[in-house]
Amino acid sequence: MINFKELCDKYDTPLYVYDFNQITKKYNNLKDAFKARKSMICYALKANSNLSVLKHLANLGAGCDCVSIGEVKRALMVGIDKYKIIYSGVGKKDLEIQEALQKDILMINLESEEEMKRVETIAKKLNKNARISIRVNPNIDPKTHPYISTGLHENKFGVDIDSAKKMYLYANKSQNLTPIGMHYHIGSQIVETLPFKEAAIVMANLLKSLKSANIDIKFFDIGGGIGIKYKDERTISLYEYAQNIFEALSGEDVTIVCEPGRYMVGNCGYLLTKVLYEKSNDKKRFVIVDAAMNDLIRPSLYQAYHDFELLDDNDEEKSFADIVGPICESGDFLAKNIQIPKTKHDDLIVFKSAGAYGFTMSSNYNTRTKAAEVAIVDGIDRLIRGRETFENLIELEKDFI
Ligand SMILES: *Cc1c(COP(=O)(O)O)cnc(C)c1O
Repeated sequence: MINFKELCDKYDTPLYVYDFNQITKKYNNLKDAFKARKSMICYALKANSNLSVLKHLANLGAGCDCVSIGEVKRALMVGIDKYKIIYSGVGKKDLEIQEALQKDILMINLESEEEMKRVETIAKKLNKNARISIRVNPNIDPKTHPYISTGLHENKFGVDIDSAKKMYLYANKSQNLTPIGMHYHIGSQIVETLPFKEAAIVMANLLKSLKSANIDIKFFDIGGGIGIKYKDERTISLYEYAQNIFEALSGEDVTIVCEPGRYMVGNCGYLLTKVLYEKSNDKKRFVIVDAAMNDLIRPSLYQAYHDFELLDDNDEEKSFADIVGPICESGDFLAKNIQIPKTKHDDLIVFKSAGAYGFTMSSNYNTRTKAAEVAIVDGIDRLIRGRETFENLIELEKDFI
């Protein structure tokens, strides 16, 4: 058990806490599910890109899926093998493409025909051969929140199958492009096996047709999206998930690449916050805490639910309330219409499953400094990102006119 009270006394709040041993378990479970075939786990950095988290995953042997050159740099910085780094994203800039090519990472994941031509031109200029994959939008409904659905034609990601085929044929002839992978990622927080299975079947068919056109695809990248338990969701069986991919691929000799973000870190993180005040009117009761939507935006952005615990739960009867932050927005809440006993100043509330898309989505809105981050490794707490200061925040503005 993590001693949250002690951490809160030592580091203050708001505070992110990550259980690294738990991350190890998640990694091993997934790796295990794929053990019957060649596989590579490329952690999606955007879920939690703290360097210590990345270093931990690097030590376990993970690769990375990056969506900006900044993320590529983070991955390289902690020693992730460059041939395990994939660079995705719908809007890569010329300089980002150039840097990715110079850093010689495993592959650049193309999301449009125009991007392919750009990569080709830049590779030519550098006298390089760009290893690429193409992100295909298989038009499968992942049955998740619309903001985190990515595999439908109404989403901006990837290209449809016919365009992908044309792109592969073009790339295969190009002097400066080498198609080595195919990629899809249909959405996030998916808690049903079927959409994954359907997408795999569609994509495995494409793989077979590419192979018969003598395009040597080595990496079959199934994306991420594995859902986690926030409240009472049932989650998928990793075994079944992997088996469905194996089945779709039948005998095809490819390395399966899986890009989990949320799955790897989501349940392993906590956001600690202290109660400031309570107030009520004839309609509502509010518990005002020192963390806000700038620290954890998921409730405001996706109507996401994060389970929480009021430490030192008192005997008072529970009643409905919203847990809100100090930010000047009505959308600033961490929990809505939940039941919680009467609280008092300095009571500690721990929000669970905050390890993914928590800190990485945080901002400085309202000139709030970002929370500190702490890792728990074998029961020992280590500060892995200091609390921001006001000086950090104004650094680039200090020569004001
Ligand atoms: C965000 C993203 C992921 C990870 O998604 P999760 O739902 O966190 O697993 C994987 N691949 C790509 C290309 C992504 O954009």
